[in-house]
Amino acid sequence: MITAHAVPILSDNYAWLLRDAATGATAIVDPAEVAPVVAAIEAAGGRLDTILLTHHHVDHIDGADEIRARYGAKIAGAAADAHRLPKLDVAVAEGDTVAIGQSTARVMETPGHTLGHIAYYFADGGVLLCGDTLFSLGCGRLLEGTAANMFASLQKFAALPPDTLVCCGHEYTESNARFALHATPDNAALQAYAAQVKALRAAGKPTIPSRLSDELAANPFLRAPDVATLAALRSAKDKF
Ligand code: ZN
Ligand code: FE
Repeated sequence: MITAHAVPILSDNYAWLLRDAATGATAIVDPAEVAPVVAAIEAAGGRLDTILLTHHHVDHIDGADEIRARYGAKIAGAAADAHRLPKLDVAVAEGDTVAIGQSTARVMETPGHTLGHIAYYFADGGVLLCGDTLFSLGCGRLLEGTAANMFASLQKFAALPPDTLVCCGHEYTESNARFALHATPDNAALQAYAAQVKALRAAGKPTIPSRLSDELAANPFLRAPDVATLAALRSAKDKF
């Protein structure tokens, strides 16, 4: 079983330290800043087996080469984006699995924010590492893919068990909540969730990971019924 701990890095990114309870095997997701990631690894026992990358943006990959060299870890990332990721030891695609000790992640191709974006889902532990595809109360900008790409990617997440922990790449929840309340003001679940988010942030606490069930109830992007609705929401958010 995998447990996931957020490691705050850069201004508002999260790297994720994953630990397999049975073996102590450890992985880090999107380690884009060396010092805080090394501190988190050392505090957890100084072992690192695997580096998992979600996509090629610098705020997700910077630091991966240096951390690989320091711990002798293997880097896994999207085969489709191998040309613009650090040199991959393990190149993966839809449906592939990556083992961390006795726990296994399933790779999901989730284009939209970038074309080669992937997510990792650990059924044992119920942990989803979704990078910049799904955010709490939001979704990634369409920098490379289309709204149809993003819609299909979000639908893959919507089909996971509702108690899945959503471990995304940024602490954007409070600003996402402002747009979500503007776009879907009558959603009572959103109103309640946004109030929780506000209280957490006022107390200086993270809002991530969130529960997929909360996103399914409150996140207008995940709730969009079709591509056209998602496209309209995304372009409205870009101008908000
Ligand atoms: Zn990104
Ligand atoms: Fe990012």
